[in-house]
Amino acid sequence: MSDCLFCKFISGEIQPDKVYEDEEVLAFRDINPQAPTHILIIPKRHIATLNELESDDQALMGKLILTAQKVAEEEGIDSAGYRTVINCNEAAGQSVFHIHLHLLGGRTMQWPPG
Ligand code: AMP
Ligand code: ZN
Repeated sequence: MSDCLFCKFISGEIQPDKVYEDEEVLAFRDINPQAPTHILIIPKRHIATLNELESDDQALMGKLILTAQKVAEEEGIDSAGYRTVINCNEAAGQSVFHIHLHLLGGRTMQWPPG
């Protein structure tokens, strides 16, 4: 997707503040952090929203969660606790239409979210 910001991170056209990368996923720091640790984890394949996921994407989405677990440990927020969020479409606040898992930690979270 030539007009997708996160695809430009994957292609290297724009360099994010990368924290993890492998053949399937990329993780980088959010430019507008909502917590002391705020990292976005994305699949390298462009998928616009959670609504576009198919059954073949099951392992890939599991990989996003396991990457969050790994990065949370590396960031030292695993034992205190952290939150993972996927916003889907406008009402949930999705603003970048390349699916991404937010990993938030380093502070106490409130519930329910706004
Ligand atoms: P969402 O609102 O769930 O779609 O999340 C999109 C996230 O992307 C927001 O938290 C933004 O702060 C973040 N974001 C937007 N532009 C950039 C960028 N250039 N680098 C890193 N994060 C970004
Ligand atoms: Zn994309």
